[in-house]
Amino acid sequence: MKSKTIESLVRANIAALQPYSTARDEYEGELGVFLDANESPFNNGYNRYPDPHQKQLKERLSEIKGVPSRNIFIGNGSDEAIDLVFRVFCEPRKDNVVAITPSYGMYKVAAAMNDVELREVELLENFELPTDELLAVADEHTKAIFLCSPNNPTGNSFPREEMLRLVDEFEGLVVVDEAYIDFAEVDSLKVEIFNRPNLIILQTLSKAWAMAGLRLGLALADERIVALFSQVKYPYNINIAAQQIVMQLLMYPIDEDLAEIKSQRQEVAEEIAKLPFVKHIYPSDANFLLVKVDDADAVYEHLIADKIIVRNRNRVKGCEGCLRITISLSGENDKLLESLKRYEK
Ligand SMILES: *Cc1c(COP(=O)(O)O)cnc(C)c1O
Repeated sequence: MKSKTIESLVRANIAALQPYSTARDEYEGELGVFLDANESPFNNGYNRYPDPHQKQLKERLSEIKGVPSRNIFIGNGSDEAIDLVFRVFCEPRKDNVVAITPSYGMYKVAAAMNDVELREVELLENFELPTDELLAVADEHTKAIFLCSPNNPTGNSFPREEMLRLVDEFEGLVVVDEAYIDFAEVDSLKVEIFNRPNLIILQTLSKAWAMAGLRLGLALADERIVALFSQVKYPYNINIAAQQIVMQLLMYPIDEDLAEIKSQRQEVAEEIAKLPFVKHIYPSDANFLLVKVDDADAVYEHLIADKIIVRNRNRVKGCEGCLRITISLSGENDKLLESLKRYEK
């Protein structure tokens, strides 16, 4: 970051915030007679408040991600971290953010909920990153640029050097959503947070780690950003059940599962390519394929009739004619392929 510091990007009311101090902030020991939080003494496993700092979970995630605990924020899904970018940095009706389109819908929703203008910049030919255009639409009130790589719903990753050029040339924050990074052939940008304080990496346990139902998203960033997010989040944002179950599930490596999804992605792409009504299959670094067909609505309805639900992106600008299809295991993928083979245009 050149001239703007993290401190200068923060909203004035947040900089002045006196954060809520929980009962458990004041005494950190594990054993004791806890008469400080008006909890019930009847122990059913969940009668105590959870650790607001998620210390144990952060230590485990630190080992897995190779990033110190102080650089890890844990949210109730990545959506919480996206919302916090707005709540911490964006003054409603004054600041703005910039995002690529087509991309994940939550950036727009979070902007609207926080009454912050979102300026969308269309991806270039072949869904390439419009780095210069993103820089050009940013002004002195632009607090953040949102990227998603691999991008949802287009499936492609953007070149590392291009994203880093954006981080280096833009004076505000660059948020890179890496929800699908574990399915990609390219590396995460997370190692770059140590010399680029304006870079925020979002990751999630919802996709590759198979824990969408537990709601756990991460922001990896400069420790000052993590501290700001931690002050503004709801104190007990990750409940005890989620913290415990995630700790258990993180014991099982996911390498084989990832290899299976990637090999299925290849097989499904090869089979879909043979269908006469398929016009294009976009290269994917994620656990889905974006497929352009002759009549997306008709194919979508045909699949629905077979109780197969895919995401119809036909009305998304830049994705006209496209369906986004999640890659599953061979049994379900075969049902998809078998249904598609029966489709008559
Ligand atoms: C699925 C997805 C997420 C994950 O959101 P969670 O709230 O962590 O479940 C984040 N970003 C993108 C682009 C996604 O597609």
